[in-house]
Amino acid sequence: MDIRADYHMHTRASDGEGTALDKARRAAELGLSEIAICDHGCGSFLFHQTEKKFEAQRRDIARANAECGVRVLSGIEASITGEDGRLDVPDSVIRACDVLTVGFHRFLQPRYIFASPRFLLVNGWGSAGARGREDLVALNTRAWLAALERYPVDVLCHIGHRAQVDVGAVCRAAAERGVYIELNEKHIDALEASAREVLASGAEFILGSDAHATAKVGLFPKVEAFVNRHGIAPSRICGVGATPHFHPKKDFKSID
Ligand SMILES: [Zn+2]
Ligand SMILES: [Zn+2]
Repeated sequence: MDIRADYHMHTRASDGEGTALDKARRAAELGLSEIAICDHGCGSFLFHQTEKKFEAQRRDIARANAECGVRVLSGIEASITGEDGRLDVPDSVIRACDVLTVGFHRFLQPRYIFASPRFLLVNGWGSAGARGREDLVALNTRAWLAALERYPVDVLCHIGHRAQVDVGAVCRAAAERGVYIELNEKHIDALEASAREVLASGAEFILGSDAHATAKVGLFPKVEAFVNRHGIAPSRICGVGATPHFHPKKDFKSID
């Protein structure tokens, strides 16, 4: 694969290493043309973005853009917090983002767990054979579709990791809205069982290393094997043969 971009990585603004500038310098060494910094949303437990840190990171990103010869996008990796599809990120941060990446994470602050215990605890910590599993898949699918409805989502990250959804339904909705399905280097195994459904949905893909360490930026050995195994055309993958188009967000206002 001729890898040109990496649209998912973390810095010390959440639980990653280094700064956006460090990540951009590494991307430049690798000859990438574009990266997106996507630290964890504001509701993550302990390590997360805040409005203040996000502003500071935007200044760091501006500097990286000026110095590194790599286009650096400002993003966030938001968490779906419950069945209504709400994210753990305030509108102000979403408006300032280039890339809104959305997925499930189990380490959220207690207030979210009190509000949606089944969604966060059973998905996050329950076993695959738990009773009521079909109900939970239906609930999760409603949550993902609601998030797509509520927000200018650009990327669905690591689908199938912990929270199971009706992959066909979610990916078809994503395809209709121009939302990319992430090929996540850390969690690509989670997509294996539903690869056929994802491919049949018509959705397009995007590369995300999910690098926390700077040395992992731009490295996709597992994704490359997945792409080869399933015969995915490079023209369908942003970061290889396709250029992504992210949704405008500056006028975004969430609905209650
Ligand atoms: Zn994640
Ligand atoms: Zn991540």
